[in-house]
Amino acid sequence: MRRRRRKGAREALGGKEAHPVGGRVSWELKRQPAYAPRSHRMQLKTILNRLEKHKSFVYGSMTLDESGLEPRLLIRIKPRRGSRPVCSGCGKRGPRYGHGEEREFEYLPLWGLGVFFVYWMRRVDCRRCGVRVEQVPWSEGKHRQTRKYQWYLAKWAQRLSWQVVAEVFGTSWQSVSEAVRMAVEWGLLSSGNDGNHGDWDR
Ligand SMILES: [Zn+2]
Repeated sequence: MRRRRRKGAREALGGKEAHPVGGRVSWELKRQPAYAPRSHRMQLKTILNRLEKHKSFVYGSMTLDESGLEPRLLIRIKPRRGSRPVCSGCGKRGPRYGHGEEREFEYLPLWGLGVFFVYWMRRVDCRRCGVRVEQVPWSEGKHRQTRKYQWYLAKWAQRLSWQVVAEVFGTSWQSVSEAVRMAVEWGLLSSGNDGNHGDWDR
């Protein structure tokens, strides 16, 4: 009886020498070991799709970039097949007109790593506006940060000085300032008419 149970357990592991992935999210993002229990197979991509899903875009490869001073996690984004870009001038979809530049957008840091979305911006041949760069849902205009990260910085800027927020999160004072401005524009706080941003303006 006992022997049969042990045999069953081995079969469940694919008959291999197995080291169960003890609840960790594996760094091997493309290929998970066959023996990983189902409940442990949650990939970063799955988590991202829960937190930040955009219906016209998909997440591609994820790589750890160790070429700079600090390692960074780069997450490629691709347009979903057949999706048409949105014009940044009028917000309407239009036919694609080649590629623009490749851009990086800073997302929330993870495990002390900077996290960046990497995306080749498309151009749109817009009927009203002419050729324009597309608008992407995770960021606005020329901002280097994603909206999510801007909200994150802005929330910390309510509690700490902008300079401290910039230092702690390894970003610039300007980025914190832009994040706060975005939060103010979205009407999250009552800024008053005197240009004073209340608790945010420090
Ligand atoms: Zn347009």
